[in-house]
Amino acid sequence: MPTPVAPELDGLTPLHSGKVRDLYALPDGRLLMVASDRISAFDFVLDTTIPDKGEILTRMSLWWFEQLASLVPHHVVSTDVPDAVRGRAVVCERLAMFPVECVARGYLTGSGLLDYRATGEVCGIALPSGLDDGSRLPEPVFTPATKAALGDHDENVTYDAVVATVGESVAASLRETTLAVYARADLIARQRGIIIADTKLEFGHRPDGTIVLADEVLTPDSSRFWPAADWEPGRTQPSYDKQIVRNWLLSPASGWDRASGEAPPPLPESVVGHTRARYVEAYETLTGEAW
Ligand code: ATP
Ligand code: MG
Repeated sequence: MPTPVAPELDGLTPLHSGKVRDLYALPDGRLLMVASDRISAFDFVLDTTIPDKGEILTRMSLWWFEQLASLVPHHVVSTDVPDAVRGRAVVCERLAMFPVECVARGYLTGSGLLDYRATGEVCGIALPSGLDDGSRLPEPVFTPATKAALGDHDENVTYDAVVATVGESVAASLRETTLAVYARADLIARQRGIIIADTKLEFGHRPDGTIVLADEVLTPDSSRFWPAADWEPGRTQPSYDKQIVRNWLLSPASGWDRASGEAPPPLPESVVGHTRARYVEAYETLTGEAW
């Protein structure tokens, strides 16, 4: 799959383009992180964009960083960004990132469910028998993954593998902080009728070793948000994310065969509209602010 190319921006140096976000170096050594309206599904970046998605996710992430500030320092320095990306970009500290996707799960689904069905464990953590798609876990677990290259799936790893990568004390901090962030976020979201089934965090460190929460946090791109009222283990849960897109791509209407390895077709306008509305609804429900 071709790597997306970051658009030109005021003579800034593009550093990195992920599936959805573009990273630039600022002259003062900080970073500009820009969330585009791109959407990915089944590890493809789609040709169709979702209007306002970058701004919705950026604002949601900023809102969460504030809610979590007493638990862990975060990387955001300011939202004073070039006009061309206003609203969907942040200036952040440039950190040395730990090569670990720090995942917390309170519910079983996705790759966790697949691993559980194959081995009874997730990331080396034994779980009780009889759990189903969407089951609530006895307690939230830290299920780290290694970051895959663009176009590949992340791979679940054991806690010991994290220790081998970053050392015992950092691994312990990452696990503890990830679970603390999840617990706080889950509590806040639950009061608003949203279940955070799981979430992926990324951390980096400052030159003095301080561990800092980075990347984006607790957005529908990094987490699974489920309407609590509709939760019912034993099936795929409806969610506040790109499920509408995935469902359409897998339906006969799209004419796309996932097994073909070919890029998915453009999305029809109704799917775009529904998906945008779902992101807006998640933002409004969580923050209590009108979009
Ligand atoms: P994808 O998420 O699409 O699979 P990706 O993770 O490479 O790919 P993005 O998430 O779009 O791409 O890009 C954000 C990148 O910036 C990630 O590599 C992330 O680790 C890194 N990053 C986030 N915050 C910071 C920071 N404060 N300092 C340095 N790097 C950061
Ligand atoms: Mg990423």
